[in-house]
Amino acid sequence: MALHTWFRQFSDWTMNLIAPQFCRICGQLVATWADGVACRACWESSAFNQSRYFLACLRCGRWKQSADVSETRAPLQVCDQCSAASYQVARSCGSYEGALRVNLLALKRRPFLPGTLKKFIGESWQRLPELHAVEVVVPVPLAARRVAERGFNQAGLLGSVVSRERGVPLEEEVLMRTVETERHRAGMDVVARRKSVERAFRVARPRLIEGKSVLLVDDVMTSGATLEACTAELLKAGAAEVRIFTAARTMRYRD
Ligand SMILES: [Zn+2]
Ligand SMILES: [Zn+2]
Repeated sequence: MALHTWFRQFSDWTMNLIAPQFCRICGQLVATWADGVACRACWESSAFNQSRYFLACLRCGRWKQSADVSETRAPLQVCDQCSAASYQVARSCGSYEGALRVNLLALKRRPFLPGTLKKFIGESWQRLPELHAVEVVVPVPLAARRVAERGFNQAGLLGSVVSRERGVPLEEEVLMRTVETERHRAGMDVVARRKSVERAFRVARPRLIEGKSVLLVDDVMTSGATLEACTAELLKAGAAEVRIFTAARTMRYRD
């Protein structure tokens, strides 16, 4: 047995003894720390669930759920929901559910990227060549007060994975959140969401993005209003273009 395998098994065994982690979905013991807060079976069934979606728009990257997995439809170039968007393209690793959802929620509370989540993001990234030409990675910022409370920004941790994959810098000081926006409430429509984030961001260090292709990273894409507000600021500050990458996206779309 290779030394690192032995060490991993030993640390899993020790951690299960002193701080057992139970799956946030089904309650079973999580056998390995690499799986974060979901067990292996829940990770596997989440991966299966993802396979039911197909890409419905080449621009905003939204998906539709397919009744039949073998169904194939040509995606639209630009759908009616993103025709006014100022970013080039938006893509996500998976839908905001199952193992991905509980692990992204856990990431808001502690700065630990489980190996399985990191691998999932890395593999999704490999399948998205439309994002590969970016020159700098910029995470969506938290308000200063929240950073002070938490000590980290989960979008920065996710950004570090693609920054390493791509070999381009991660710039966490470029975007600042000047207004702490109200949390998006369920039922808030797109217009209300857009209004709540308008003027919430500014670019603090434009020189780091001037003339560059920027990859904007966040944990979850919901209506896209936050990402759209950040994109507008980046372009105003001189970025050549903005592409968006999120670990997950919600599936609440109008058809
Ligand atoms: Zn489970
Ligand atoms: Zn679209």
